[in-house]
Amino acid sequence: MDILQIKNLNLGFVGENGFNQALFNVNFTLKQGEMHALVGESGCGKSITAMSILKLLPKNSQITSGEIIFDNKDLIKLSPKEFVHIRGEKIALIPQDPMTSLNPLFTIGDQLLEVLSIHQGIKGKEAEKKAIEALDTVRIPSAKSRLKSYPHEFSGGMKQRAIIAMALCCEAEILIADEPTTALDVTIQAQIMNLLNTIKKESNTSIILITHDLGVVYENADRISVMYAGRIVEEAPSQDFFKNTNHPYSKALLNSIPSSDKSKLLTIAGQPPTIMQNIPGCRFNPRCNFAMDICKSKIPELSEISPCHFSACFLNNNLY
Ligand code: SF4
Repeated sequence: MDILQIKNLNLGFVGENGFNQALFNVNFTLKQGEMHALVGESGCGKSITAMSILKLLPKNSQITSGEIIFDNKDLIKLSPKEFVHIRGEKIALIPQDPMTSLNPLFTIGDQLLEVLSIHQGIKGKEAEKKAIEALDTVRIPSAKSRLKSYPHEFSGGMKQRAIIAMALCCEAEILIADEPTTALDVTIQAQIMNLLNTIKKESNTSIILITHDLGVVYENADRISVMYAGRIVEEAPSQDFFKNTNHPYSKALLNSIPSSDKSKLLTIAGQPPTIMQNIPGCRFNPRCNFAMDICKSKIPELSEISPCHFSACFLNNNLY
Protein backbone atom coordinates (compact mmCIF):
# COMPACT_ATOMS: atom_id res chain seq x y z
CA MET A 1 0.00 0.00 0.00
CA ASP A 2 1.29 3.47 -0.89
CA ILE A 3 1.49 5.64 2.22
CA LEU A 4 2.94 8.76 0.57
CA GLN A 5 3.10 9.95 -3.02
CA ILE A 6 4.99 12.89 -4.43
CA LYS A 7 3.58 13.72 -7.86
CA ASN A 8 5.32 15.91 -10.44
CA LEU A 9 6.88 18.17 -7.83
CA ASN A 10 8.53 21.29 -9.24
CA LEU A 11 10.25 23.63 -6.81
CA GLY A 12 12.74 26.47 -6.99
CA PHE A 13 14.30 29.36 -5.14
CA VAL A 14 13.94 33.07 -5.73
CA GLY A 15 17.35 34.71 -5.68
CA GLU A 16 18.91 37.99 -6.75
CA ASN A 17 19.13 36.67 -10.30
CA GLY A 18 15.49 35.54 -10.42
CA PHE A 19 13.90 32.10 -10.07
CA ASN A 20 16.19 29.04 -10.06
CA GLN A 21 14.56 25.65 -10.38
CA ALA A 22 15.88 23.01 -7.95
CA LEU A 23 13.45 20.09 -8.40
CA PHE A 24 12.13 18.97 -11.78
CA ASN A 25 9.00 16.77 -11.97
CA VAL A 26 9.96 14.65 -8.97
CA ASN A 27 7.79 11.56 -8.57
CA PHE A 28 8.37 9.44 -5.50
CA THR A 29 6.23 6.77 -3.82
CA LEU A 30 6.72 5.37 -0.33
CA LYS A 31 5.04 2.09 0.54
CA GLN A 32 3.84 1.04 3.99
CA GLY A 33 6.60 -0.70 5.94
CA GLU A 34 9.26 0.06 3.31
CA MET A 35 12.63 1.79 3.61
CA HIS A 36 13.02 3.86 0.44
CA ALA A 37 16.43 5.48 0.01
CA LEU A 38 16.87 8.77 -1.79
CA VAL A 39 20.47 8.82 -2.96
CA GLY A 40 22.80 11.29 -4.67
CA GLU A 41 25.65 13.75 -4.26
CA SER A 42 25.14 16.78 -2.05
CA GLY A 43 23.05 19.45 -3.74
CA CYS A 44 21.15 16.91 -5.90
CA GLY A 45 17.81 17.81 -4.27
CA LYS A 46 17.27 14.84 -1.97
CA SER A 47 17.05 16.85 1.26
CA ILE A 48 14.88 19.54 -0.38
CA THR A 49 12.51 16.79 -1.54
CA ALA A 50 12.29 15.48 2.03
CA MET A 51 11.92 18.94 3.56
CA SER A 52 9.08 19.73 1.16
CA ILE A 53 7.17 16.79 2.71
CA LEU A 54 7.70 18.31 6.15
CA LYS A 55 7.06 21.90 4.99
CA LEU A 56 10.47 22.87 6.34
CA LEU A 57 11.58 24.76 3.25
CA PRO A 58 13.57 28.01 3.20
CA LYS A 59 11.49 31.19 2.94
CA ASN A 60 12.67 31.97 -0.60
CA SER A 61 11.52 28.59 -1.94
CA GLN A 62 8.48 28.21 -4.18
CA ILE A 63 6.62 25.05 -5.11
CA THR A 64 5.43 25.86 -8.61
CA SER A 65 3.44 22.66 -9.19
CA GLY A 66 2.89 19.15 -7.91
CA GLU A 67 1.21 17.28 -5.08
CA ILE A 68 2.36 15.49 -1.94
CA ILE A 69 -0.39 13.06 -1.01
CA PHE A 70 -0.57 11.60 2.51
CA ASP A 71 -3.70 10.32 4.21
CA ASN A 72 -5.77 11.40 1.17
CA LYS A 73 -4.66 15.01 1.64
CA ASP A 74 -2.32 17.17 -0.43
CA LEU A 75 0.19 18.31 2.19
CA ILE A 76 1.17 21.30 0.03
CA LYS A 77 -2.33 22.74 0.42
CA LEU A 78 -2.59 22.30 4.20
CA SER A 79 -2.45 25.44 6.36
CA PRO A 80 0.20 25.66 9.13
CA LYS A 81 -2.58 24.96 11.66
CA GLU A 82 -3.71 21.82 9.83
CA PHE A 83 -0.10 20.71 9.40
CA VAL A 84 0.65 20.80 13.17
CA HIS A 85 -0.83 17.32 13.52
CA ILE A 86 1.25 15.91 10.67
CA ARG A 87 4.83 17.04 11.35
CA GLY A 88 6.30 15.29 14.38
CA GLU A 89 3.10 13.34 14.95
CA LYS A 90 2.53 11.35 11.75
CA ILE A 91 5.71 12.21 9.86
CA ALA A 92 8.83 12.64 12.00
CA LEU A 93 12.31 13.81 11.10
CA ILE A 94 15.51 12.16 12.25
CA PRO A 95 18.07 14.83 11.38
CA GLN A 96 21.76 14.52 10.64
CA ASP A 97 22.59 16.56 13.74
CA PRO A 98 20.31 15.51 16.63
CA MET A 99 21.04 18.81 18.43
CA THR A 100 18.91 20.60 15.84
CA SER A 101 15.94 18.74 17.37
CA LEU A 102 16.98 18.45 21.02
CA ASN A 103 16.80 21.47 23.32
CA PRO A 104 20.03 21.66 25.37
CA LEU A 105 18.22 23.43 28.23
CA PHE A 106 15.73 20.63 28.98
CA THR A 107 16.25 17.03 30.12
CA ILE A 108 15.60 14.17 27.71
CA GLY A 109 12.64 13.21 29.95
CA ASP A 110 11.11 16.72 29.77
CA GLN A 111 11.35 16.64 25.99
CA LEU A 112 9.83 13.17 25.68
CA LEU A 113 7.00 14.10 28.07
CA GLU A 114 6.30 17.28 26.09
CA VAL A 115 6.03 15.29 22.87
CA LEU A 116 3.65 12.81 24.53
CA SER A 117 1.52 15.62 25.95
CA ILE A 118 1.27 17.63 22.70
CA HIS A 119 0.89 14.82 20.20
CA GLN A 120 -0.74 12.01 22.19
CA GLY A 121 -2.49 13.93 25.00
CA ILE A 122 -0.79 11.66 27.56
CA LYS A 123 0.48 13.17 30.83
CA GLY A 124 1.76 12.23 34.32
CA LYS A 125 2.72 8.66 35.28
CA GLU A 126 1.35 7.18 32.06
CA ALA A 127 3.52 9.54 30.01
CA GLU A 128 6.59 8.69 32.10
CA LYS A 129 5.95 4.96 31.57
CA LYS A 130 5.67 5.50 27.81
CA ALA A 131 8.86 7.61 27.75
CA ILE A 132 10.79 4.87 29.59
CA GLU A 133 9.41 2.23 27.20
CA ALA A 134 10.52 4.34 24.22
CA LEU A 135 14.05 4.74 25.61
CA ASP A 136 14.14 0.99 26.31
CA THR A 137 13.05 0.26 22.73
CA VAL A 138 15.91 2.37 21.33
CA ARG A 139 18.23 0.54 23.75
CA ILE A 140 19.28 3.38 25.98
CA PRO A 141 20.51 1.65 29.15
CA SER A 142 19.05 2.60 32.57
CA ALA A 143 16.18 4.30 30.77
CA LYS A 144 14.40 5.52 33.94
CA SER A 145 17.41 7.38 35.33
CA ARG A 146 18.37 8.63 31.84
CA LEU A 147 15.12 10.63 31.72
CA LYS A 148 16.88 13.11 34.03
CA SER A 149 19.91 13.51 31.72
CA TYR A 150 20.50 16.59 29.59
CA PRO A 151 21.37 16.15 25.90
CA HIS A 152 25.05 17.08 26.52
CA GLU A 153 25.30 14.06 28.84
CA PHE A 154 24.45 11.75 25.90
CA SER A 155 26.92 10.58 23.25
CA GLY A 156 26.16 11.32 19.55
CA GLY A 157 24.64 7.85 19.06
CA MET A 158 22.50 8.17 22.21
CA LYS A 159 21.22 11.59 21.12
CA GLN A 160 20.18 10.08 17.79
CA ARG A 161 18.44 7.24 19.68
CA ALA A 162 16.61 9.82 21.84
CA ILE A 163 15.30 11.50 18.65
CA ILE A 164 14.11 8.11 17.39
CA ALA A 165 12.45 7.54 20.80
CA MET A 166 10.51 10.81 20.32
CA ALA A 167 9.27 9.59 16.95
CA LEU A 168 8.22 6.31 18.62
CA CYS A 169 6.33 8.22 21.33
CA CYS A 170 4.28 9.87 18.57
CA GLU A 171 3.76 6.53 16.81
CA ALA A 172 4.82 8.32 13.61
CA GLU A 173 3.78 6.49 10.45
CA ILE A 174 6.68 7.84 8.42
CA LEU A 175 10.23 8.55 9.55
CA ILE A 176 12.39 10.79 7.39
CA ALA A 177 15.98 9.95 8.25
CA ASP A 178 18.18 12.68 6.74
CA GLU A 179 21.77 11.37 6.69
CA PRO A 180 21.06 10.00 10.19
CA THR A 181 24.46 8.36 10.65
CA THR A 182 26.83 10.77 8.89
CA ALA A 183 28.05 12.34 12.12
CA LEU A 184 28.54 8.98 13.87
CA ASP A 185 31.39 6.47 13.82
CA VAL A 186 31.00 3.27 11.82
CA THR A 187 29.99 0.94 14.70
CA ILE A 188 27.35 3.35 15.96
CA GLN A 189 26.14 3.91 12.35
CA ALA A 190 25.41 0.18 12.08
CA GLN A 191 23.58 0.17 15.42
CA ILE A 192 21.34 3.09 14.40
CA MET A 193 20.55 1.48 11.03
CA ASN A 194 19.76 -1.83 12.81
CA LEU A 195 17.45 0.07 15.14
CA LEU A 196 15.62 1.74 12.22
CA ASN A 197 15.25 -1.66 10.55
CA THR A 198 13.83 -3.19 13.73
CA ILE A 199 11.30 -0.34 14.08
CA LYS A 200 10.35 -0.76 10.42
CA LYS A 201 9.71 -4.50 10.85
CA GLU A 202 8.05 -4.42 14.26
CA SER A 203 5.85 -1.33 13.79
CA ASN A 204 5.43 -1.47 9.99
CA THR A 205 6.78 2.08 9.93
CA SER A 206 7.75 3.53 6.54
CA ILE A 207 11.15 5.19 6.29
CA ILE A 208 12.63 7.62 3.78
CA LEU A 209 16.39 7.34 4.08
CA ILE A 210 18.28 10.32 2.67
CA THR A 211 21.90 9.44 2.10
CA HIS A 212 24.92 9.78 -0.14
CA ASP A 213 26.27 6.46 1.20
CA LEU A 214 25.45 3.57 -1.13
CA GLY A 215 27.00 1.13 1.37
CA VAL A 216 24.29 2.02 3.92
CA VAL A 217 21.67 1.72 1.17
CA TYR A 218 22.93 -1.70 0.05
CA GLU A 219 22.56 -3.13 3.52
CA ASN A 220 19.26 -1.53 4.50
CA ALA A 221 16.98 -0.10 1.80
CA ASP A 222 14.11 -1.96 0.13
CA ARG A 223 13.92 0.51 -2.73
CA ILE A 224 16.24 3.17 -4.15
CA SER A 225 15.71 6.41 -6.02
CA VAL A 226 18.84 8.06 -7.38
CA MET A 227 18.69 11.83 -7.82
CA TYR A 228 20.89 13.97 -10.01
CA ALA A 229 20.64 17.76 -10.26
CA GLY A 230 17.02 17.90 -9.12
CA ARG A 231 15.69 14.91 -11.06
CA ILE A 232 15.16 11.26 -10.20
CA VAL A 233 17.24 9.42 -12.80
CA GLU A 234 16.80 5.81 -11.64
CA GLU A 235 14.41 3.99 -9.32
CA ALA A 236 14.41 0.28 -8.54
CA PRO A 237 14.02 -2.35 -5.83
CA SER A 238 17.33 -2.45 -3.96
CA GLN A 239 18.46 -5.93 -5.06
CA ASP A 240 17.67 -5.24 -8.69
CA PHE A 241 19.38 -1.86 -8.53
CA PHE A 242 22.69 -3.31 -7.37
CA LYS A 243 22.47 -6.28 -9.77
CA ASN A 244 21.28 -4.46 -12.87
CA THR A 245 22.34 -0.83 -12.39
CA ASN A 246 21.21 1.01 -15.49
CA HIS A 247 21.77 4.77 -15.46
CA PRO A 248 25.32 6.00 -16.24
CA TYR A 249 25.19 8.29 -13.19
CA SER A 250 24.17 5.42 -10.87
CA LYS A 251 26.98 3.28 -12.33
CA ALA A 252 29.48 6.09 -11.78
CA LEU A 253 28.27 6.49 -8.17
CA LEU A 254 28.75 2.76 -7.55
CA ASN A 255 32.22 2.83 -9.12
CA SER A 256 33.23 5.60 -6.76
CA ILE A 257 32.56 3.53 -3.60
CA PRO A 258 35.83 2.44 -1.97
CA SER A 259 36.17 -1.35 -1.60
CA SER A 260 38.98 -3.82 -0.91
CA ASP A 261 38.77 -5.45 -4.38
CA LYS A 262 39.22 -2.17 -6.26
CA SER A 263 42.81 -1.24 -7.06
CA LYS A 264 41.76 2.24 -8.23
CA LEU A 265 38.92 4.44 -7.07
CA LEU A 266 37.02 5.91 -10.00
CA THR A 267 35.75 9.42 -9.44
CA ILE A 268 33.01 11.11 -11.46
CA ALA A 269 34.65 13.75 -13.63
CA GLY A 270 33.41 17.33 -13.19
CA GLN A 271 30.96 18.75 -10.69
CA PRO A 272 27.17 18.53 -10.47
CA PRO A 273 25.57 21.75 -11.75
CA THR A 274 24.43 24.42 -9.33
CA ILE A 275 20.76 25.41 -9.46
CA MET A 276 21.81 28.57 -11.30
CA GLN A 277 23.25 26.57 -14.20
CA ASN A 278 20.78 25.87 -16.95
CA ILE A 279 21.83 22.67 -18.70
CA PRO A 280 19.69 21.80 -21.72
CA GLY A 281 18.79 18.14 -22.27
CA CYS A 282 19.93 15.49 -19.83
CA ARG A 283 21.46 17.36 -16.91
CA PHE A 284 24.15 14.67 -16.57
CA ASN A 285 25.36 15.10 -20.19
CA PRO A 286 28.48 17.24 -19.44
CA ARG A 287 29.80 14.45 -17.15
CA CYS A 288 28.50 11.40 -19.02
CA ASN A 289 30.91 9.17 -20.97
CA PHE A 290 28.05 7.98 -23.19
CA ALA A 291 26.47 11.35 -24.05
CA MET A 292 25.05 11.57 -27.59
CA ASP A 293 23.75 14.54 -29.58
CA ILE A 294 20.18 13.95 -28.42
CA CYS A 295 21.30 14.14 -24.76
CA LYS A 296 22.25 17.81 -25.23
CA SER A 297 18.85 18.94 -26.44
CA LYS A 298 16.15 16.56 -25.11
CA ILE A 299 15.29 15.54 -21.56
CA PRO A 300 15.09 11.75 -21.08
CA GLU A 301 11.89 10.66 -19.33
CA LEU A 302 11.92 8.14 -16.49
CA SER A 303 10.64 4.94 -18.14
CA GLU A 304 10.19 1.35 -17.02
CA ILE A 305 13.07 -0.74 -18.36
CA SER A 306 12.12 -3.95 -16.49
CA PRO A 307 9.35 -4.67 -13.96
CA CYS A 308 9.41 -1.91 -11.30
CA HIS A 309 12.82 -0.66 -12.50
CA PHE A 310 12.82 2.86 -14.01
CA SER A 311 15.62 4.82 -15.64
CA ALA A 312 15.86 8.15 -17.47
CA CYS A 313 18.48 7.63 -20.17
CA PHE A 314 18.37 7.68 -23.97
CA LEU A 315 20.65 4.63 -24.08
CA ASN A 316 17.54 2.61 -23.20
CA ASN A 317 15.63 3.92 -26.22
CA ASN A 318 17.96 2.44 -28.86
CA LEU A 319 18.39 5.90 -30.30
CA TYR A 320 22.13 5.70 -30.67
FE1 SF4 B 1 24.30 9.98 -20.51
FE2 SF4 B 1 22.62 10.67 -22.46
FE3 SF4 B 1 21.93 8.80 -20.72
FE4 SF4 B 1 22.07 11.36 -19.98
S1 SF4 B 1 20.63 10.46 -21.47
S2 SF4 B 1 22.85 9.62 -18.88
S3 SF4 B 1 23.82 12.04 -21.17
S4 SF4 B 1 23.59 8.69 -22.21
